Amino acid sequence: MNIHEYQAKKILKEYDVNVLNGYLVKDIKEIEKVFKKIETDQVVIKAQIHAGGRGKAGGVKFAKTLDEAVNAAKNLIGKKLVTHQTDKKGVLVRNIYIEESCSIKNEYYLSLVLDRKNNGITFVASTEGGMEIEEVAKNIPEKIIELRVDSFIGLRDYQIRFLIDKLKIPEILQSDIKKTLNGIFKAFNDKNCNLIEINPLVLTEKNELIALDAKMSFDDNALFKHDDILKLKDNTEKKEQEIEAEKHGISYVSLDGDIGCMVNGAGLAMATMDSISDVGGSPANFLDVGGSAAKENIKNAFKIILSDSKVKGVFINIFGGIIHCDLIAEGIIQASKEAAYDLPIVTRLEGSNVEKGSKILHDSSLEIYTASSMAEGAQKIVDLTRKEHK
Ligand code: GDP
Ligand code: MN
Repeated sequence: MNIHEYQAKKILKEYDVNVLNGYLVKDIKEIEKVFKKIETDQVVIKAQIHAGGRGKAGGVKFAKTLDEAVNAAKNLIGKKLVTHQTDKKGVLVRNIYIEESCSIKNEYYLSLVLDRKNNGITFVASTEGGMEIEEVAKNIPEKIIELRVDSFIGLRDYQIRFLIDKLKIPEILQSDIKKTLNGIFKAFNDKNCNLIEINPLVLTEKNELIALDAKMSFDDNALFKHDDILKLKDNTEKKEQEIEAEKHGISYVSLDGDIGCMVNGAGLAMATMDSISDVGGSPANFLDVGGSAAKENIKNAFKIILSDSKVKGVFINIFGGIIHCDLIAEGIIQASKEAAYDLPIVTRLEGSNVEKGSKILHDSSLEIYTASSMAEGAQKIVDLTRKEHK
């Protein structure tokens, strides 16, 4: 689960990370009041969406007067913002964050990530803050500093000194950076984060160390322990299908194509999308129905796929392991009886009880095409949806 910048800053502030004073604004009418509260000679107005890259996309604006602030806000609230992290249509900006501004002397990159490769938590830092970290990693990889921290032993002084040294943090900021590093490390563990990213962390002309931007992402499986974090959930940017899928414990990501995919297992789901692309098709979604509650999951997943108007055909690619293929076949039949549809459907079943499953599908009155391999299935559904288009 992701939260907004203003929410992340509020949490980080409780962990001794310096942030600037700011106010959330939902309505242009509130701007005058907020503008008066801010004491710096200009304000920074930032679109609050769950995507980065706002700066380059016009989602971060500066204003010296109230008029300028109102104008900037009008250009953000209620408009769609397209950044390199959103899709082509962009995301509707509902709220903005109005913050004090500061003069930047130096920008750093600092993040803490759950690092599966290292079985732990890793600090990623760079003297090249403010830019996209992916670009830094690609063009000047030597400028990326990585430091693994053992979650049981915790962050040690020598590790802090290592980061200070590599980041070339000036003497005067040493106590601030220690507080910041310890603060985000503690926040990360307390709140079961996947990611805390501060880009940029800045050194100001007044020699302060401030988190100018903040991103926090949480482990969904730990959210039950954190009512305070759950309250911050904002589903308004999600598609209807994604919200529905989340309710049923189905992993679902909406994509741009027109072939709905129903698959079990994330790896198989990726491979299915690849096979569709390989034969010139384009998947409408990533969907992993998961391993349990076969029939119910298949039914719910099917409904979710069909509720997406861009879907022109469905490819069901299931490996019967824990759930046997006959149960899956029954689930498919039940689901297709309950949902009204007239799209081509191709299934490919493999694994336990595959013959039984295939027979059930075959004997049903439903017009479901079966394929014996993933490649054949992908080709079939692509051909069938093409035909439908004509
Ligand atoms: P992002 O593009 O979505 O990551 O948004 P950021 O919050 O990182 O803002 C983009 C850029 O705006 C930052 O890298 C800064 O260079 C700049 N910026 C943000 N706040 C301030 C500020 O108070 N003063 C100045 N001078 N620049 C700022
Ligand atoms: Mn940023």
